[in-house]
Amino acid sequence: MYQKTLAELSQALHKKEISSVELTQIFLTRCQSLNSKLNCFISMTPEHALAQANAADVQIRNGTAGPLTGLPIAHKDIFCTNGIKTSCGSKMLDNFIAPYNATVVERLNASGMITIGKTNMDEFAMGSSNETSYYGVVKNPWDLKRVPGGSSGGSAAAVAARLAPAATGTDTGGSIRQPASLCNITGLKPTYGRVSRYGMIAFASSLDQGGPLTRTAEDAAMVMNAMAGFDKRDSTSACEPVEDYTAKLNDSIKGLKIGLPMEYFDEMLDSTVSNLVHAAVEELVKLGAEIKDINLPNSHLSIPVYYVVAPAECSSNLARYDGVRFGYRCKDPKDLSDLYCRSRGEGFGREVKRRIMIGTYVLSAGYYDAYYLKAQQIRRLIRDDFQKALATVDIIIGPTVPGPAFKINELMNDPISMYLCDIYTVSVNLAGLPAVSVPAGFMDNLPIGMQIIGNYFSESRLLNIAHRFQQVTDWHQRIPEGFN
Ligand code: GLN
Repeated sequence: MYQKTLAELSQALHKKEISSVELTQIFLTRCQSLNSKLNCFISMTPEHALAQANAADVQIRNGTAGPLTGLPIAHKDIFCTNGIKTSCGSKMLDNFIAPYNATVVERLNASGMITIGKTNMDEFAMGSSNETSYYGVVKNPWDLKRVPGGSSGGSAAAVAARLAPAATGTDTGGSIRQPASLCNITGLKPTYGRVSRYGMIAFASSLDQGGPLTRTAEDAAMVMNAMAGFDKRDSTSACEPVEDYTAKLNDSIKGLKIGLPMEYFDEMLDSTVSNLVHAAVEELVKLGAEIKDINLPNSHLSIPVYYVVAPAECSSNLARYDGVRFGYRCKDPKDLSDLYCRSRGEGFGREVKRRIMIGTYVLSAGYYDAYYLKAQQIRRLIRDDFQKALATVDIIIGPTVPGPAFKINELMNDPISMYLCDIYTVSVNLAGLPAVSVPAGFMDNLPIGMQIIGNYFSESRLLNIAHRFQQVTDWHQRIPEGFN
């Protein structure tokens, strides 16, 4: 059962081949025996899950169940879950029991999905490897010596290892797509504003966006149907109408115009990755798509711009963790200043502190114009590049990540190299566009993803293309050894 996709499990539940309680139990048992290998969960919520599953079974029996009713899901520990610890991967929030649900959690609960646990992540979602978590590094199920990517690494590893059929993630600069790529699963970063940020602990508010991590594009569409939509509690939420993301999955892609950015396929890109992505594009060409070379001339500036804007916003967002209102408080403070300094000093990890310092610096009087303002101006140019390109093509395709998963500790002392892993993903967040990463092949037995970028609110089209691709390829069906 655990090998089935959400769509298949939904059928099995509706045909009464299995009950939701039985299904939930299968995944809980699997997590219990395999999580110690991967460390992909921070908390398991078995009692909560079984209560939800019982309620789902009643709905299935009395015919009021929807397509997601009774299906298990894991939530990244950045989403507030009422009555359940929500740590954001940080010592700072190790004692935080959220008093309310994030809108994403509330919507998925309302759709009948079962929360089986909270997944591990880089501290406050800052990282590309899941090594910055207070709860320890997550291991990649394809090679336990390697990272799963970050920051939604726990979610990606859990789905790849079949410990959960789906998971939620957040993507500020690639954190859904990058771990999806390194773990051989499908990860969708929706248009900024498509999924509510209410109750999703803020890292960089103008970039953060929640989305699904699943095995297939079809499953991502099912989850998006519940996740997406306007939320009056999030002032940046888009009121654009929500489509049925499953409705157009099988549409033809004949005549689809694919843009291949020259700047992505340059000599810097590993030739194996480049060949795999080109071979994947060929599959789409066989289905009737056409390709065109395009330019994104400012893409080389996306990393420096992102690593000014994201730390700036994080330094402001994380100011609330002061040891007073909630979260970690140091022992026996001498005075107020000592309380602030030690609570923050002891509560945050190295990477978070590095970002707070960079962010505070680029926002400070005298440097604001030189760094923050400049970065915002270039951000506009990066967005304009995409708009120009998307006026001539329907979608843009490139690699998700420059290479396969790297070894644990390999880049920990080299933050610049770590930041460069995000080279193909951050510009999408800076522009606020949607993009999906799908499995596109293997390099030295490690998965490589292809990234498909679309115009604003084109999630349905992106999932359609990803689905058609998955119908003619089987990369996404491969299971890491030891987890099949
Ligand atoms: N790796 C990027 C960073 O560390 C992106 C993280 C994210 O998307 N949450 O900022």
